[in-house]
Amino acid sequence: MNTRASRLPAMTIAGETIEPGNSYKLNVPIGSLYTSTDMTMPVYIKRSRKPGPTLFISAAIHGDELNGVEIINRLINGSRLRNLRGTLICVPVVNPFGVVNQSRYLPDRRDLNRSFPGSPKGSLAGRMADTFLNEIVAHCDYGIDLHTGAIHRSNLPQIRANLDDEETRLMALEFGVPVVLNANLRDGSLRESANEMGVKILLYEAGEALRYDELCIRAGERGILRVMRLLNMLPPSRQKKFPIEPLVARNSGWVRATDSGFVRAFRQLGDKVEKGDVLASICDPFGDEVDRVVASKDGIVIGNQNLPLVHEGDAMFHIAYFKEPDDVVESIENMQDSLLPDDAEPIQAN
Ligand SMILES: [Zn+2]
Repeated sequence: MNTRASRLPAMTIAGETIEPGNSYKLNVPIGSLYTSTDMTMPVYIKRSRKPGPTLFISAAIHGDELNGVEIINRLINGSRLRNLRGTLICVPVVNPFGVVNQSRYLPDRRDLNRSFPGSPKGSLAGRMADTFLNEIVAHCDYGIDLHTGAIHRSNLPQIRANLDDEETRLMALEFGVPVVLNANLRDGSLRESANEMGVKILLYEAGEALRYDELCIRAGERGILRVMRLLNMLPPSRQKKFPIEPLVARNSGWVRATDSGFVRAFRQLGDKVEKGDVLASICDPFGDEVDRVVASKDGIVIGNQNLPLVHEGDAMFHIAYFKEPDDVVESIENMQDSLLPDDAEPIQAN
């Protein structure tokens, strides 16, 4: 037996012994449906013989948020993990029930990301949370949880994290997307429970629910690889350094519809807005303007609603406020140019 490997601590996931030097695809039981159909959580584990941290990557905690599934697929099927140190655990579908229903929610309209830490005797959401926390998160030092905007809403690729923690802040900046938001821990969220277990978490938000978005997928995969290099789980890249300056927003807020109607939007994701700019006009069914939606501060559009219909009070534009908004615009352009240049090769079948 390899003596170095024997010094690595034992790891058991769903009753399976996870040996150094191997990779695994497991289906972890999480309950059964009305029809006696067993529901399982797919888990991929790659464990190196070389010691190093344990990192989890999770997607589809909200069952309609799919970009992360493709990010994980590319990560585990690519060649970048050949020289892995430590252990990578990927869960492409944390919430299979939500994916089957193409829905953010579980039965009873429960939100899995408000159901942590859960309980083995709880409702389906509580059991899923409990299984994920104890079978996956408990083994880990770090985690990256992949999300998208809600249905009919898009997010500019962005990292949300507890920036008061120095190591988490370094990981957030290294991910290499233009916008980083300091986010408080929410009650019942995975981040809150993971934090209590001492696991450092980044939340990646990009794109729209129920869609694959190529820029968001590429930015996500590259960001994960960059963080893995920072954590010495992968050797340094020989590629030239990515020309992105992530900027931390001081705060952010939603601009809401001032009336109900059909929307003509004049600003899109990544645009800079200045106080007083008209972001959209709201019209009646004849096309007559009933009101205008105006920016109240300077900032960058980091989230928006794609559906051209609003009720008064609906959240329309998520604006992040920066000291230097022009630098953010440049950084967003750099990201687009480097990840999706005009001459980018189309995706090919394997
Ligand atoms: Zn989400």
